[in-house]
Amino acid sequence: MMKTTKFTLDSLVRVNVKRLTPYSSARDEFKDSSQDMIFLDANENPFENGVNRYPDPQQRSLKQELARIKGVDSNQILLGNGSDEVLDLLFRAFCEPGVDNIITLPPTYGMYSVLADTNAVENREVLLTSDFQPDEIGVMNAADEYTKITFLCSPNNPTANSFESKKIEKILENTKGLVVIDEAYIDFSSQQSWLSKLQKYPNLIVVQTLSKAYGLAGIRLGICYASQEIISVLTKIKPPYNVNELTQKKALQRVVDQKGVKSEIDLILAERALLIKALGELPYVNKVFPTDANFILAEVDDAQLRYTQLLKAGVVVRNRSTQPMCTNTLRFTIGTSEENKQLINVLTTLKN
Ligand SMILES: *Cc1c(COP(=O)(O)O)cnc(C)c1O
Repeated sequence: MMKTTKFTLDSLVRVNVKRLTPYSSARDEFKDSSQDMIFLDANENPFENGVNRYPDPQQRSLKQELARIKGVDSNQILLGNGSDEVLDLLFRAFCEPGVDNIITLPPTYGMYSVLADTNAVENREVLLTSDFQPDEIGVMNAADEYTKITFLCSPNNPTANSFESKKIEKILENTKGLVVIDEAYIDFSSQQSWLSKLQKYPNLIVVQTLSKAYGLAGIRLGICYASQEIISVLTKIKPPYNVNELTQKKALQRVVDQKGVKSEIDLILAERALLIKALGELPYVNKVFPTDANFILAEVDDAQLRYTQLLKAGVVVRNRSTQPMCTNTLRFTIGTSEENKQLINVLTTLKN
């Protein structure tokens, strides 16, 4: 097992990234000013239509609001075109293709391994334990000096459970590389976000998204929270206008409406309880796994059969059977009350 070592970000950043001078866009140079300016610097069309200008490359208003709500500094935030872009930027900033490696803990979110393949980075898989918790010793043993990032997804997709804090802490304290905690489902969780631990762990990166609890999957807005040092490395390599104007506007509107977000989360959690109960009463459901997210993983007698039957009845769920330790499992996203009623109706009428 590795000893706790002092964390130095500099040794993790790719050499080409360290060397590069970021693209300086026209809009980087403009700063909010009290004076009315005439913008003739970016070859835009001058006729006003709401989106004829390039968006703010630093997304200042949106970051300011997120910083306020989450209790971090604006310079601890990087925004991307969905979490997917944020995760890709992490690979491109820290992982040397063909040399470095990452660690993932299957069964988990599929994008980590896709991005590893895309970036030609080795993915070392350390399976979760039978109760879907991290094998922290396994993770430490899998790591070497080329391990740049360990991806922890908590609550985890597709298993729906949160990881034990003690295990996450062990990993944070014993890895020289970065540890990403993907909190896509944190707003549905009874656990605290790891955001409050950013000061304590300089190697911690927390990724969140507006795609789930915030109901904005269509606008693509992913959020990376980390030390100012890590954020400035990522900012250096991000495409200047990666978050478009419509997304910035819509995201800001939603983020300031915390009450609206909360009331939808409450409805989803109430529906989740009903669906857990209904699933548990079905004869062909062997197990309903504990959930801390807006979906439920359930083990059935024959996932392919049940999946096809549901599809015929007009209900699309996810068959997760190909994932390790997920044989014959289906993943149900929590819908509206009406949708869930229909789902339960269909489920209770399925024949053998
Ligand atoms: C849905 C999901 C995301 C969201 O990705 P976006 O690109 O922000 O839509 C991220 N991580 C996990 C684990 C997810 O399940």
